[in-house]
Amino acid sequence: MTNDQFPKSFMFVSGLELWRWVNQAKIDAIASEIPQVELDWLLQELAGLDKLALRLESFKDLPKIQLKLSVSELDRLWQRRLQERVPVQYLTGVAHWRDFSLKVTPAVLIPRPETELLIDLAVDALKSHSVNPTSDWVDLGTGSGAIAIGLACALKNTTIHAVDCSSEALAVARLNAENLGFGSRINFYQGLWWEPLEFLKGKVSGMVSNPPYIPSSTVLTLQPEVLKHEPHLALDGGFDGLDCIRHLVETAPDYLESGGVWLVEMMAGQETAVADMLQSHGSYCDVQIFADLAGIDRFALAYRL
Ligand code: GLN
Repeated sequence: MTNDQFPKSFMFVSGLELWRWVNQAKIDAIASEIPQVELDWLLQELAGLDKLALRLESFKDLPKIQLKLSVSELDRLWQRRLQERVPVQYLTGVAHWRDFSLKVTPAVLIPRPETELLIDLAVDALKSHSVNPTSDWVDLGTGSGAIAIGLACALKNTTIHAVDCSSEALAVARLNAENLGFGSRINFYQGLWWEPLEFLKGKVSGMVSNPPYIPSSTVLTLQPEVLKHEPHLALDGGFDGLDCIRHLVETAPDYLESGGVWLVEMMAGQETAVADMLQSHGSYCDVQIFADLAGIDRFALAYRL
C-alpha cells in the first residue's frame, strides 16, 4: 500500500545508531507508561524491521537500515506518542485490521481488533440463514472503510454500499478500498445512515455497523489517546450511548429484504437494551447477542421478518 504521509526519499542509518535510539526510546516509554510493543509497531512501519529482529535486537549488527524519515524525525514522532498521547496508528498513518493494512488519519476511528469479528458473524449469518448471497450489503458509518472492505473480501458476490457523514472519512475509506483492490465492489456515499440509500429500500440483504455507542458523559473519561485524538463523531452515542443504535433499529426495516441481516457492534452493558429494542419492534426475529474474544457481549444480530 502506498503511504503518502512520508516523503519518497529514504534515509539510511547504521543498525548501531538505530539501536542506541531504540534503547533511549524504551526508557522514555517506561517513564511515560506506554507499552514497548508500540515502539516495535513504529519501527515495523518506518524502518521495515520485523518483530523478531526487534525482539532479538539483531538489527544492531546491520551496516545500514533504510528509514522513511531521519532519526531525529523518528524521535519527534515518538515524543508525540509519549507526550501528546497520539496513537501510533495516527503517527504512522497505518492500522492493521484482519488481513488488511489500512490508511488511517485522525478523521477516522482506528479500527479495533474486536470489530474484526463482525465480518465472521456476517459470514455465519449468511450461511445459516440462506440470506441472498448475490446481493447488496451496507456498512453504515464506514469510517476508514474497514468493515466495508472486510465484507467485500468475505462475501464474494455482493455489492457493498458504504455510508459516512464525514467527507474526510470517506476520502480515507475510498483510498483504502482502491489500494486493496475493492474499489469496484464498494460504492461510497456521503450522508446520514440510510439517507443516501433510498433506491435500496426493501432490497438490502445485510446491514452492518459499528456506530458511535459511548454515552456522552463516558466519552469525557476515555483515555487521552481516544479522547484527545480520535473523532468524537465516531464515538459519542448521545446520553445513553444508544441514539444511533436506536435509529438503526427504527429505520432498517424499510431497507432490509425479508430475511435480511441486522448486525451492529455495541458497548459492554448495552446488550439487554439492544435485544429488547429489536424484540419489541415487531419487524425482527431470531435476535442474538454475541461476545467478543474477551467475553464481553459486543454484537447484536437479528433478521428482518
Ligand atoms: N470501540 C471503540 C472504543 O472503545 C468505540 C467505537 C464506537 O463507539 N463505535 O473506543
